[in-house]
Amino acid sequence: MAYATLDDLLAEGVRGRRVLVRSDLNVPLEGEVPSLKVTDDGRVRASLPVLRKLSEAGAAVIVMAHLGRPKGAPEEKYSLAPAVDVLRELADFPVSLAPDTTGEGARAAAAALADGEVLVLENVRFDARETSKDDAERAAFAREMAQLAGEDGAYVDDAFGAVHRRHASVYDIASLLPAYQGDLVRAELVVLERLTTDPQRPFVVVLGGSKVSDKLAVIENLIGTADRILVGGGMVFTFLAAQGHEVGASLLEEDQIDTVRGYLERGPRDGTQFVLPTDIVVAEKFAADAGHSVVAADAIAAGTYGASGIGLDIGPVTGADFAANIAEAKTVFWNGPMGVFEFDAFADGTRAVAQALTEAQADGALTVVGGGDSAAAVRGLGFADDQFGHISTGGGASLEYLEGKELPGLTALARD
Ligand code: ADP
Ligand code: MG
Repeated sequence: MAYATLDDLLAEGVRGRRVLVRSDLNVPLEGEVPSLKVTDDGRVRASLPVLRKLSEAGAAVIVMAHLGRPKGAPEEKYSLAPAVDVLRELADFPVSLAPDTTGEGARAAAAALADGEVLVLENVRFDARETSKDDAERAAFAREMAQLAGEDGAYVDDAFGAVHRRHASVYDIASLLPAYQGDLVRAELVVLERLTTDPQRPFVVVLGGSKVSDKLAVIENLIGTADRILVGGGMVFTFLAAQGHEVGASLLEEDQIDTVRGYLERGPRDGTQFVLPTDIVVAEKFAADAGHSVVAADAIAAGTYGASGIGLDIGPVTGADFAANIAEAKTVFWNGPMGVFEFDAFADGTRAVAQALTEAQADGALTVVGGGDSAAAVRGLGFADDQFGHISTGGGASLEYLEGKELPGLTALARD
């Protein structure tokens, strides 16, 4: 697919024009209203360069973004205010937040916007039409947003984390205004292309996290492409169950067991080796201070806590084994924490994998981390962004790309 890029737009000239930018400001928050705090500002930082380029070129910039999953109506805990506060601190241009998305407040603020200024509209998901399955509803909402840009407007999609969504601010709007691909989307695609087109081998994929059924789909496409798939996190228990082991009270998707058994059979035939944990940190309950012990992966329910034990991390032997596999790799893609890293006692597996990626990167491998929680985990554990080849801002989007699925937000931007 061929795309017009931000640089094409800048070459056409943006001074005096209103440019709508879809950014990804969907940051993790902690605390309660009104003192919510951003815990990982990675996506705000990643959104900054495109906004700066447009501001410096003299555009009046209107940003569309979402945060969390509000139910189609305003809700203070999903306000973009905390993300906009961070943006304002980082930006060397004026940034303001509209009181609504396309209401009177947003229209007035957009009309008053001066060249070089950036206005962020309130959470686009405060309007149920943003995510509607009804084409006409989404189109009507997209038209309201496009009208904020006026006659001479343009649209830039820089929200890689949302390109897999058929949403008004990502998909429908691209047919209403001249549409361009932002630098962040461009950069993400360049890296993903390197993973899918002739990756340097060995190509090792590390999968974990909690959205088991979401992530199983990517395995389908990686069998035959990846040399090894290392499995940890919550999804591992569906694998262990597929091998016939009891997994106690650990996360398990019973309806996926047969599918996973199929993967385990197909993998070796198609040249992909699955590497599963041999030991698991099993906890008494799901809590930061829960009692825990290391148990053989094939005997979780026979451990200290019996059938009520919950596997919350890969064990130390597995951590070392995964690290050794990563050390041999020339290309590594990692999505999903190895354990419940939010609790210190269950962060060691995630730390071991993160550390191994940084060492592989230093040795000349290409290492890519995808997923909101994975990115937050590596930063929270004290690693720096530049210790990895690339930290993707889009978990779901990068997985769907690797699955070989069509990404509506990209299709909408394509020109032939
Ligand atoms: P990402 O956002 O990186 O794609 P996910 O959203 O799929 O990752 O998963 C992240 C979550 O997975 C974390 O909150 C972590 O606590 C959880 N997790 C990891 N291992 C386990 C486990 N063994 N049991 C339950 N949850 C887990
Ligand atoms: Mg997540």
